Amino acid sequence: MASIGFIGLGNMGLPMARNLMKAGHQVTGFDLSEAALAALESEGGARAASPVEAVSEVDGVVTALPAAQHVRGVYLGEGGILAAPRPGTIFIDCSTIDVETARAVIAEAGTRGQMMIDSPMSGGVGGASAGTLTFMAGGSAQAFAAAEPVLQAMGKNIFHAGDAGAGSAAKICNNMMLAIQMIAVSEGFNLAERLGLEAEKLYEISSTATARCWALNDYCPAPGPVPASPANRDYQPGFAAALMLKDLRIAMQAAQAAGAHTPMGAQATQIYSLMDLAGQSERDFSGVIKLLRGDI
Ligand code: NAD
Repeated sequence: MASIGFIGLGNMGLPMARNLMKAGHQVTGFDLSEAALAALESEGGARAASPVEAVSEVDGVVTALPAAQHVRGVYLGEGGILAAPRPGTIFIDCSTIDVETARAVIAEAGTRGQMMIDSPMSGGVGGASAGTLTFMAGGSAQAFAAAEPVLQAMGKNIFHAGDAGAGSAAKICNNMMLAIQMIAVSEGFNLAERLGLEAEKLYEISSTATARCWALNDYCPAPGPVPASPANRDYQPGFAAALMLKDLRIAMQAAQAAGAHTPMGAQATQIYSLMDLAGQSERDFSGVIKLLRGDI
C-alpha cells in the first residue's frame, strides 16, 4: 500500500482515484472544485487544502489536468508541487499535453532531484471507471519502474514509450489517427445511406473487410450496428469532440515544429473546428457523422 496525492479529480481523475483506493492505496486529493473534493471524501479519500499539501507526504503523485497551462501552473507555478515532496516521490502526469511542455516539466523535476513521467491515457471515462485504461509513459527506466505499480491500479495496458515526452508523442499520434479514421468511417456510412445500403449491412461487410478499425468495429458512428456506441444515445460522450479538437491542435503544432506532413490531420482539425463552431463540441466525437451529413 502506498500513499498517493491526486490533483485533478475530474471526469477521469475521480474514477482513477477510486481505483487507487480500491487497490488499497491512501489517496489525498486536491481540485479547484468543491464538488470533486466532497466526492473523493465521501469515498474514503482525504482532501488537501492546496496542491502542495496533497503531495507533501506521499509516495506518488498523479495529476489529471485539463491542458498544458494547468500542468505548468500546478507543477512549476507559485506554490508548485515540485518544490514540496519528500525525496523519492514519483510524479505521474496523465494529462494530454504537448510534448514540449511534458519534456520541460520532467526536466525541471530532474533538476530538483525528483522522478517524473508523462503518462497520458486512453480508454475514456469508461476505462477510467473500469480500471482498464491504456497508459503510454515517457521518462527514465527508473521513473517508469517506480510509476508502474501505481499505473497498474488504474489501467490494463501499460507501455514505456521511451524518454521524457514519448508518452505524449504516442498519445497525440494515436488520437490524430483515430480522428481521421472516425471521419473516414462517417463518410462511408453517409455515402452508403445515399446509395440505399443499410448501415447494418455495410457494418456486417466492412467490419470484416479491409476498412475495419476501432472507429468502425467498436465505436460505429452510425446508430444501430454497435449497441454500446454513443450513436445510440444521441452522441452523449464518451469522448467529447472538444477533447478531440484539443488533441488535434496539439498534434498539428507538433507536426509543424517537427516538419512532418499531416494533410489529413490538418483536414480533421478543420472538421472538428466546424463541429465546435456549430456548438456541438460537447457531443461525442463520433457525432461528426451528423456534421458531415449536413444535420448540424
Ligand atoms: P476534467 O475537466 O473533467 O477534469 C479536470 C479537473 O482538473 C477538474 O476537476 C478541474 O477542476 C481540475 N483542475 C483544473 N485546474 C486545476 C488546478 N490548478 N488545480 C487543481 N485542479 C484543477 O477533464 P478530464 O476529462 O478528467 O481529463 C483530464 C485529462 O485527461 C485531460 O488532459 C484530457 O485531455 C485527458 N483525457 C481525457 C479523456 C476523457 O475521455 N475524458 C480520455 C483520455 C485523456
